[in-house]
Amino acid sequence: MKLSCPWGRSFILSFDVEMDAPPYMSSFRGVDGALDPTLEMLERQGVKATFFTIGILARLRPRVVEAIVEAGHELGSHGLDHKRLDRIPLREAVENVKASLKLLREYYDIVSFRAPNLKLPRGLLPHLASQGVLVDSSVAKYKPPIYLNPTVEYGVLRVPVSYPSSLLRLPWSLLGRIIAGDGDKVMLLHPWELVEIKAPRPDLTLGVGLRVLRNLEETIKYLKSLGYKPITMRETLACPPSPLIKVEGYSQV
Ligand SMILES: [Zn+2]
Repeated sequence: MKLSCPWGRSFILSFDVEMDAPPYMSSFRGVDGALDPTLEMLERQGVKATFFTIGILARLRPRVVEAIVEAGHELGSHGLDHKRLDRIPLREAVENVKASLKLLREYYDIVSFRAPNLKLPRGLLPHLASQGVLVDSSVAKYKPPIYLNPTVEYGVLRVPVSYPSSLLRLPWSLLGRIIAGDGDKVMLLHPWELVEIKAPRPDLTLGVGLRVLRNLEETIKYLKSLGYKPITMRETLACPPSPLIKVEGYSQV
């Protein structure tokens, strides 16, 4: 294996490309308003990111999916339509993922997956593996079940998200101090956090807007200055084996 991403000194930028925040689950103001400036910023910084995209976007906004792929970023699957996979029968969840992969693989050879709301029923893992998913980022260091380090389950490398997306809404003075700590950094953002949407839930609207994109750009510059290397989700597969990675011996579904 090629040594391209020392664990502990890499950072991954990941975007969950989906409809706007609740209760606006049928509009795409974030995608329409924030994608272009995001791609421009990433280009300026020379960073490739991972865009976990809902499958229906390939039909609703094909230009968006094309723009992500043409800019050289990794396209991952975020399910078909943002339906919670832990709240539907397993068979339906399998079909949901399959349909998403089919749509998105018209554009890109998908190997990475993230479940909506980071809620992936364990029983779905072997089905992800059998559909060619090699990396799953549906777990986090801050949301139960807590995963502090990558693990391998059913042959799928599970890479936990490091911070809630709202971290990037903090003032830079505070944000800079938090991200300076050691360890891998998997950042998560949604396009709707980069535009100003009026919603009745303050947790979804406080601090959002293009300032979040500026914070992300500062974060990238800062991490690079500390010696961190940007990688995409699929590039974790080329990482050397880490003592942090725990391989679990699950054999039953
Ligand atoms: Zn989502």
